[in-house]
Amino acid sequence: MSEKIILTVAATGSIPSRKDNPAIPYTPEEVATEVAKCAEAGASVVHLHARDPKTGGPTSDTEIFRQYMKLVQERCDIVINITTGGGREGTGDKSGRSNEEILIERLRDLRPEMASLNMGTLNAWATPVSDRVFVNTTRMIEALGKAMLEIGVKPELEIYHSGMLNTVETMRERGALKDPLHLQFVLTGGTGASPTVKDLLHLVDSRPPGSTWSACGLGRHEFPVVAAAALLGGHARVGFEDNLFVSKGVLARSNAELVAKAARIARELGREPATVDETREILGLKR
Ligand code: ZN
Repeated sequence: MSEKIILTVAATGSIPSRKDNPAIPYTPEEVATEVAKCAEAGASVVHLHARDPKTGGPTSDTEIFRQYMKLVQERCDIVINITTGGGREGTGDKSGRSNEEILIERLRDLRPEMASLNMGTLNAWATPVSDRVFVNTTRMIEALGKAMLEIGVKPELEIYHSGMLNTVETMRERGALKDPLHLQFVLTGGTGASPTVKDLLHLVDSRPPGSTWSACGLGRHEFPVVAAAALLGGHARVGFEDNLFVSKGVLARSNAELVAKAARIARELGREPATVDETREILGLKR
């Protein structure tokens, strides 16, 4: 288990705001500066959602993603992974296109190295009772998976519970996913898998043979999940999308502070953070 650990930073997210933590980056300039600091601290992948530069609210404006990518690439070498999940409220834009048509067009236009691909629908995990549903139908998954293969974007398969691993298998059989697969276990608790070693171990043991994997825990579970993933030979994700605190009651001053803590934990457990080139090799990304 001497393999290097890939640290991903989910630097923006779409839900928390500056009311929750004033350090959340909103503008492309702020995002790029933040990402460069994270790269220095040991992150080799950045997962990005777009935010309205003025209000900080979630937006699905492709131009914002374009600016993020341009400015980030000017400042540092890091694998860029853009979301196909958050910030897609509503049912398409004024042109009448569906959400996945918009998402696919964005991937074709921007060609990031990676993009997230959510492997199933889930009831909102943070609220005990509501009508909020995170919709990812199998038809949408298949369309996005096939488009990513065709465009040459590596999907990061977001897995919220073990049933979604069955969908991974189905999509693989249908030619919408191709080996080597990379999974992100999003341990939300609530309606998704719990941020426990037991649940993580079950997911790790049930994953497709030969796949690489990473894990993230929300809120106070962020760093225990980093430690568990490091011990189990996986990779890990931290960042403001998942957690705003560097320790109990102490707001993180930046995403980089969260990355630095994850890197410290990993190193203590014998896992050196992977460089960007090592990350590309581990994930089979071609440039
Ligand atoms: Zn995300």
